[in-house]
Amino acid sequence: MLACVLLLADAARADKIVLKNGRKIIAYNVVEDGDKIRYETSAGQLALPKSIVDHIEKGGILPLMSSPAAAVAAAGLDLEPAETAATAGESEIDKAAVHDGSVDRNYINHLESGTAAGGAKAIQAARALHAAARFEMVRGDLERALSDARAAVSYAPEDPAMLLELAYVYLRRSEFKQSLEYLERAKRYARDNPDVYKLEGWTYYGLNRPDQAAAAWKKSLALRADPEVQAALDKAVRDKAEEENYRENESSHFQLKYNGTAEPGLAREVLHTLEGHYQQIESELNFSPPDPIGVVLYTQEAFADITRAPGWAGALNDGRIRVPVQGLTGVDSELSRVLRHELTHSFIQQKTHGRAPTWIQEGVAQWMEGKRSDESAAVLVQVYDAGQAAPLGQLEGSWMRMPGPLASYAYAWALANIEYIVQTQGMGDVERILDRLATGTATEQALREVLHDDYADLMQATAGYLKKNYGR
Ligand SMILES: [Zn+2]
Repeated sequence: MLACVLLLADAARADKIVLKNGRKIIAYNVVEDGDKIRYETSAGQLALPKSIVDHIEKGGILPLMSSPAAAVAAAGLDLEPAETAATAGESEIDKAAVHDGSVDRNYINHLESGTAAGGAKAIQAARALHAAARFEMVRGDLERALSDARAAVSYAPEDPAMLLELAYVYLRRSEFKQSLEYLERAKRYARDNPDVYKLEGWTYYGLNRPDQAAAAWKKSLALRADPEVQAALDKAVRDKAEEENYRENESSHFQLKYNGTAEPGLAREVLHTLEGHYQQIESELNFSPPDPIGVVLYTQEAFADITRAPGWAGALNDGRIRVPVQGLTGVDSELSRVLRHELTHSFIQQKTHGRAPTWIQEGVAQWMEGKRSDESAAVLVQVYDAGQAAPLGQLEGSWMRMPGPLASYAYAWALANIEYIVQTQGMGDVERILDRLATGTATEQALREVLHDDYADLMQATAGYLKKNYGR
């Protein structure tokens, strides 16, 4: 069986801070400092009170590639507000806006009351909201981060730091068009800021415009050396070199690229198949992805070379659907199944703004492709009864480093859990879980809210379901 690789890993070589409320923070250089946990994130250096931290998981994950939103989450961005406006009082504003592990909404309301855009008080309000947005983003609450960053821009509509922060939040939400709009505005006031072009590169990449992405990253590098930008540019150039002699084809929801030596008829059939799957998944998940979905068809060697995916990978979704089609002249049932699986990933990615854990992504994708637990039920039940099933919490992050056999267990459990939910509660519950993930709710909390189950309950119920439906 060929599994698909989903490259939506959180971060490169990052640690995970797990809070007592279940939320997880991806961070670098996590250190204990008295009653604080200090760490670095893409949004700058921050600290949390130790009292709200449950534990810290040391990382070591280095995804081969990742979606633009995930890549930018792992990137080191310096989004400090403009130096010109900085006074000694302003870091005081940051401290007053965020302290003791939470945002001081009273303080911010006080700054905002009776404030019109442009004045000195408005700049203070913008600064405080900026600090709040950054804090919310690091905590993983992208809804609040967005609302704070938008408010900050409304008070200081010409401050590049505010514009850049808002563009960054949109990018993290995989809302590329909005991100681009604010980057354009930031450029008017900060033409020589390398971070503007760094973000612009990721935004174009997310919009499947690798040429413009490469041009933006080159500008960023001309302004400042940056290994992350260099790596991103190298990858874009690698993609481009391979895709140079590719042909393009488009349908209403897809942009397809394929090797010039592939059958043109195959490309048309792939698009036709994808459009059919699109309509079905759209109605099952009750969601229409706002952005067009990029698809690349490869020869086998090009796939291995470009994607650098592990040997057991059959296809891949890193924001674009990448499928090897060596020797195929038409869409057979196997390819149709693979396309459906990968397309489901794109739906879930866009619906949850990249916040779905891997087990939900792979569980729903397998369910949608038509896979069921019949073959694996007996061994899963055996593993469960022996108390050897991995807790679902361990299947949230990237599976890239998993050896093949372990990965097959992970896929089988992911499917079994989703199959149990769909068969006993209905697809509507899956949809409601995805909706909660989209607003930043931690996965187990979303399960509690929708299913009234925690992870242990869900595993138990799934094992029971497998026994009942597939038992001898
Ligand atoms: Zn998959």
